[in-house]
Amino acid sequence: MNNNTLRVIRIVDGTSVDGPGLRTSIYLAGCNHCCPGCHNEDSWSFKAGQDMTLDIILDYIEEQDFDVTFSGGDPMYQIDGLLPLLKELKNRGRNVWCYTGFTFEEIFNNPERRRVLDYIDVLVDGPFVQEKRDLSLRFRGSSNQRLIKSRVSTPGDIKYWADD
Ligand code: SF4
Repeated sequence: MNNNTLRVIRIVDGTSVDGPGLRTSIYLAGCNHCCPGCHNEDSWSFKAGQDMTLDIILDYIEEQDFDVTFSGGDPMYQIDGLLPLLKELKNRGRNVWCYTGFTFEEIFNNPERRRVLDYIDVLVDGPFVQEKRDLSLRFRGSSNQRLIKSRVSTPGDIKYWADD
């Protein structure tokens, strides 16, 4: 794997459960959070799925013409490939959501991972916590997870996405 590829488990088109509207959801391989009750333990392996070049992923997204969500696994383990793809998606005007098991603060305080925050419209952050599972929540599984407007937030001043 290098800066021009991502390890992709699967791509789902036209989904309405990973953010507003119909979206292309890209599930990236690998996760070390090991949340009890995880929806997809098969995604924990960094060898799951297949390598895909950024060009092929971009072409696919353009063909479908939906906004984009990254999930997994945890996309934050593939920063080197994710960052150039995010930049290109924002250049092309796509709205981008990203799910992660890290908190916003953990990402913000990590110089490597922090670079992606400028190119993600909404970060759904934090691990899945079984005791806080709540089926009534939109776009997230447990109440500790937050829908954060990552491009305009700082740890001391978090702005939340709301469907309004
Ligand atoms: S962060 Fe997500 S993919 Fe990773 S273990 Fe937790 S629920 Fe599963």
